Amino acid sequence: MPRRPTTNLAALGTTIFETMSRLAEASGAINLGQGFPDEGGPEGVIAEAVRTLREASNQYPPMAGLLALRSAIARHELHYYGLERDPATEVLVTSGATEALAATLLTLVSPGDEVLVFEPVYDCYLPMIQRAGGVVVPVRLAAPDFELSEERLRERLTSRLRVILLNNPQNPSGKVFSRAELELIVRVAQEHDAILVCDEVYEHLVFGAHEHIPAASLPGARDRTLKIGSAGKVFSMTGWKVGWVTGPAELVSLVARAHQYLTFTTPPNLQAAVAWGLDHERAWIGELTRALEDKRDRLAAGLTSLGFSVLPSAGTYFLNLDLSASEWAQRDEAFARHLTEQLKVAAIPLRSFYVESPCCDLVRFCFAKKHDVLQAALGRLSTAVDANGRP
Ligand code: PMP
Ligand code: GLN
Repeated sequence: MPRRPTTNLAALGTTIFETMSRLAEASGAINLGQGFPDEGGPEGVIAEAVRTLREASNQYPPMAGLLALRSAIARHELHYYGLERDPATEVLVTSGATEALAATLLTLVSPGDEVLVFEPVYDCYLPMIQRAGGVVVPVRLAAPDFELSEERLRERLTSRLRVILLNNPQNPSGKVFSRAELELIVRVAQEHDAILVCDEVYEHLVFGAHEHIPAASLPGARDRTLKIGSAGKVFSMTGWKVGWVTGPAELVSLVARAHQYLTFTTPPNLQAAVAWGLDHERAWIGELTRALEDKRDRLAAGLTSLGFSVLPSAGTYFLNLDLSASEWAQRDEAFARHLTEQLKVAAIPLRSFYVESPCCDLVRFCFAKKHDVLQAALGRLSTAVDANGRP
């Protein structure tokens, strides 16, 4: 065995999503852990992928992405948010939002730069920031409402702040940031001359009266904001790994510097199919939002009636259980394992989403599943409560 590498990535274990999915498989559990829908994407998009696999080129597409897709992404941003993008210079196609995040952070962050994140923070952010040499600065959003406190935010600010990395709607909390919160974040970015990176992969999965507001659409934000999207989430096909970054030409061209040496490009047929879908499947996207809201409501109501404490979820695929008043307080991981191995329903413990002093009272369920699957999971979970109706 050669000398062991000493990078932070080499020291890491396997992600909690992979760990819980494999445990779910081994235990024969219904997998409400890792976030992926159990119903496929729009037929028209799949048909377009098949057609272009057979009829179009299977060779390297342009590094920045097919112009047809970059143009469709620009139309998508204009239609939903009134954001004007030049497809030639302000849109970059990546291999999923994950690669968009990696390319963005590798490009923007130099050793010692501070990157502000909001806890609970999506799992790939920390290792990526650290690998780039950045210093993670967490600002905690506290359960149950995950509101952003200006005081807590300002306490963490220093002159070394370079990037604010925002996930909105937020995985795993299900939080959707309000206009006032976003205005505060933009103000802080301006005051510190920081770049705002917005991971908005759940942009269409926002429920009820809540509204998705891209930070880039707020006054003064456009020139310093990169917005990241994912076709995997827009079309319920998480394995597709077609993502994008939009923003001012100067910043997008910088991100392309890293992208060209990471994946260089993304399968052309999937790009063509996503381009077709963004233009032709807006009704399908609206229907997906309504269907997911109904699933969220059914799972939340079912869990509440079993005696669980369910936190509100305004968006994403996810809702959380609060264990703080139960005998499982501070033992989210043990609870998730117990559910998976004994009750045969997999969940994700939230401790992996914290930088310092993890919060260990929350477990996340994915509700992007068929009704009968959610019903079966609730049936299994009903045995998790004691005679007094407490988990
Ligand atoms: N960001 C967040 C917040 C996510 O939940 C995910 C998970 N899909 C991603 C990024 C990655 O998206 P993709 O599959 O397009 O790489
Ligand atoms: N985003 C998915 C989730 O939160 C997982 C994606 C992955 O496994 N990397 O469950």
